[in-house]
Amino acid sequence: MKTLYRKFTVATLVILATSLTIGFVLANLIYMTSTKQKIDEQNVEIAEGIALTLGRMHADVSSFEPFLESVGELGYQIYVINEAGEEAYFGRPFTKTSLPDEAMKVLKAQEIYHGMSQYKFWMMGHFSNDVTNTVGVPFTMNGQPYGLFLRPNNKLLFSDIHMILAWFFMAIAVVSIIGVLLMARQLIKPITNLTEATKEIARENFNYPLKIERNDEIGQLVESFNIMQKQLQHNDEARKSFINNVSHDFQSPLMNIQGYAELLMSKDITDREHQEYVQIIDHESKRLSTLTKQLLLLTSLDQNTYSMKVSGVQLDEQIKQTIRRFQWRLQEKEIEVSYSLPPVQIKADAELMSNVWDNLLTNAIKYNNHMGNIWISLTEDDTSLTIMFKDTGIGMSQENISQIFDRFYRVDSSRKRDGTGLGLAIVKQIIDLHEGEIEVDSKIGVGTTFTIKLPLNHKLEE
Ligand code: ATP
Ligand code: MG
Repeated sequence: MKTLYRKFTVATLVILATSLTIGFVLANLIYMTSTKQKIDEQNVEIAEGIALTLGRMHADVSSFEPFLESVGELGYQIYVINEAGEEAYFGRPFTKTSLPDEAMKVLKAQEIYHGMSQYKFWMMGHFSNDVTNTVGVPFTMNGQPYGLFLRPNNKLLFSDIHMILAWFFMAIAVVSIIGVLLMARQLIKPITNLTEATKEIARENFNYPLKIERNDEIGQLVESFNIMQKQLQHNDEARKSFINNVSHDFQSPLMNIQGYAELLMSKDITDREHQEYVQIIDHESKRLSTLTKQLLLLTSLDQNTYSMKVSGVQLDEQIKQTIRRFQWRLQEKEIEVSYSLPPVQIKADAELMSNVWDNLLTNAIKYNNHMGNIWISLTEDDTSLTIMFKDTGIGMSQENISQIFDRFYRVDSSRKRDGTGLGLAIVKQIIDLHEGEIEVDSKIGVGTTFTIKLPLNHKLEE
């Protein structure tokens, strides 16, 4: 596998090599097009200055050699030749000493030789210790024509300041490379940690510590990762407890049915007992049927496989019908229902909505006191339709309220026989599906109020 770190390192080195190449080519182009000419001109000027001095020395030929030797010591390489072919070198020796024919024009035609500006090789040619790589000027001494060829030696070209600059650039390059590599390591480390954490999640370990605090994009990634990890953990726990609850809720009525069926089979039971057992079996099988229906509904709502059958629903009428359906239970508990339900029609799935009122009303009855009250209202403001179910029942604590929309949650599990704990979870799903909100307000011993808000755009004008 190619690691990110290796890629980063290779990329850095490639960028460095490319920039060096481009820099080198550009510097050469500048050297070839302008610098080379200027250097040549400067050296011609120096050579002419020396030639002028030599020309003035005709009276004193003995000082000719010491003068050129001292120029050589100053950092110049000099080659002198006269028409008779007598030649002499001063300063550091040249490695190549053959001059082209063109250079002889200095002697023959008194022309200046521009060897430095014509020297072929690129920038590196500037340092070539070749007598061809010189400038040549003519001068006359004692009536005899001479040629003086000169170039600054490489030591002069590489002055101390050049060395300091070279070290400076080397240091910058080395420090930059080390810096980039260290930074790459810093950048890549959290990614390696994240990969490790992802593998742990795949192994269902949701507690892998990922302590990376950064303010950059990687920090954001880690933050999202942590949120995802918590959500997955929550989902995993919910899934496990759901399976647990489903098995338990199916198991207990099945065991009851089994037990009472066995009792029914025994011969020595009274008619009354027979009647009672049949009733229990009937009740438990109904309970199983409700549970299955509710689970199927929840699952299809969950997986978005439920196809909504949206139509015009006369809300007030639907709620009144629900009250009528539960009349016998209300009378049984002597609960008084009052309501204010002005006519309102909304776009909704009638069956799902009916499910909501069913559950809210049965809850208000089930968790109400004998001779309690229920108040149902429907109001409308600028943004929403509000439906309220208020009862004077047993109420709930704040802690319970936070859990009542969870699947299978029941405040008092000893009342388990009365329901499945799925009712409000379904209500919440249905209200979400209709883009509404549901809120609960409750006080122990005082009562509970469920408030549903549906967006006004669901309302149909009469
Ligand atoms: P199901 O509706 O599935 O038959 P359920 O009524 O027990 O069963 P939910 O409707 O989901 O389940 O309600 C969850 C729990 O919230 C109930 O068990 C009850 O403890 C509490 N609860 C719901 N409505 C009220 C209410 N009006 N007053 C007091 N407690 C309530
Ligand atoms: Mg209920």
